[in-house]
Amino acid sequence: MQTKKPVLSRGYLYQTIVLSTSQLVLAGCSNTMSAKLAESPASRPAYEKMAEHYLLNTSFTAQGQDERIRFVILHYTALNQTDSLAMLTGPQVSTHYLVPEKPQWRGGEPVIMQLVPENKRAWHAGVSSWGGWRALNASSVGVEMVNRGYTELSSGWRQWYPYTAQQIEAVSILLKDVIARNRIEPYNVLGHSDVAPLRKSDPGPLFPWEQLASKGIGAWPDQQVVEKHLAGRAPKQAAVVLEVQKSLKRYGYDQIPQTGELDEDTRKTISAFQMHFRPSDYSGNADAQTEAIAKALLEKYRQ
Ligand SMILES: [Zn+2]
Repeated sequence: MQTKKPVLSRGYLYQTIVLSTSQLVLAGCSNTMSAKLAESPASRPAYEKMAEHYLLNTSFTAQGQDERIRFVILHYTALNQTDSLAMLTGPQVSTHYLVPEKPQWRGGEPVIMQLVPENKRAWHAGVSSWGGWRALNASSVGVEMVNRGYTELSSGWRQWYPYTAQQIEAVSILLKDVIARNRIEPYNVLGHSDVAPLRKSDPGPLFPWEQLASKGIGAWPDQQVVEKHLAGRAPKQAAVVLEVQKSLKRYGYDQIPQTGELDEDTRKTISAFQMHFRPSDYSGNADAQTEAIAKALLEKYRQ
């Protein structure tokens, strides 16, 4: 079989094993088939020298694989720049990227801080879930934006701090690249409040998701499809709670109860959804417009 003088190496041994197995399988096959298979990649292994003591045969590729990174999760730090950096470089929490409130621009490009390389896990999402996936630190890229979050007023209302235009520009440039390189689906571009709606509010209702979607970043429903699902109802008209719960669960909010009751967990999850897709009113009420937006998103992304 071997015409060349054998060289004693592990690569040679591997090749020998592969060829003998093929021969075994081919017992009884026609010569034509045997000639065809002799041309298959198995008979011509591609070796890559990886380290000092072994070679890799990379001739075969498994079908069973997907991207390690599936999600990008956006946050605000709720701290100023100095404290944000101190916290995110300390031992408790971290992020892949930190976007300053007023990023430096060098040669027309924003400077974004990378605190953890993308191939390592950063600790930003905590207890979290989305569309059947849990503990999303393992499968996401974390992007923290320096922003104070909100102040709770004596009236009980929250006063939110706006993002700066330069910061939104910088985060858009970053996200375009992160999404393209990791092939992240639009519906997997998320806020911390989407994946932990019972305990988190960031990036908050002032984060301009619609503006980002107009640049091709993340999901957004088509207005005419929202109108279709609204079906002539007033936007704030009460919807069937179970319909909203079912739609949100199907879209990805998999911790939302399926009870038909507007309980606290349901209200918090609806509020998180509204902060993302209808920030003008994130009261957590199960209204007709919320249901219509959810159904338009399902129609566009989750068929
Ligand atoms: Zn967060």
